[in-house]
Amino acid sequence: MQQRIDEVERRIQLACSRSGRSRDEIKVIAVTKYVSESTTFDAIRHGLLQLGENRWQDAQAKWQAVQSEMALEPTWHFIGSLQTNKVKEVVGRFEWIHSLDRPSLAKEINRKAEQLGIRVPCLIQVNVSGEDSKHGLQPEELREFAASLSSLPHLRPAGLMTMAPYEAEPEETRPVFRRLRELRDELNQAALLTEPLQELSMGMSNDFEIAVEEGATWLRLGTVLVGKEEEA
Ligand SMILES: *Cc1c(COP(=O)(O)O)cnc(C)c1O
Repeated sequence: MQQRIDEVERRIQLACSRSGRSRDEIKVIAVTKYVSESTTFDAIRHGLLQLGENRWQDAQAKWQAVQSEMALEPTWHFIGSLQTNKVKEVVGRFEWIHSLDRPSLAKEINRKAEQLGIRVPCLIQVNVSGEDSKHGLQPEELREFAASLSSLPHLRPAGLMTMAPYEAEPEETRPVFRRLRELRDELNQAALLTEPLQELSMGMSNDFEIAVEEGATWLRLGTVLVGKEEEA
């Protein structure tokens, strides 16, 4: 595990120096969806305290075990497509939601957060590449959606998220990441939100260096960082 962490760290730092970015602008989420409870514990012991999961049904037991057995308390990020009927389970347990992609979901997150008396940082998922298989708003839907969030005080719009298509040549993902950054900057210029969007959640195992070069603030790393097990 430590070897993987060191290698990822080295690659992030190289990408930072290539692009003139400061390492402390970038945070890493260890995506534990492909690994067992014990590997997740191991990741936490190695200091990986930002964890990501994409399905509540699969994450539930792991979340529970970490809560009851680990002294360290990681921050959980929900990164997968979120069904409205799972919001009541996820909000309050996962601090960040990276997959806000529709008005009905925004309303439900706001409703649950209000009950709990919290404000939930959310990233708006954008389908930049336009692939049918990808969730997320179309870029042209973004302004109206962002503007509608100002009526939901328990939701804190923090930034944008995207998934690039898998490319054998990671360099080919660059236009997708660059576009997400431009979309964030355009939204901030339009000043539709009370606070500017700071975050860009982009970059996975295959393409994270390109994402760093294009401005990522949250990398979501599974396989390259914590591995992938057959029977997680
Ligand atoms: C699984 C997943 C990741 C991590 O995938 P790797 O390629 O293993 O790094 C990142 N983001 C999302 C939304 C995922 O579902």
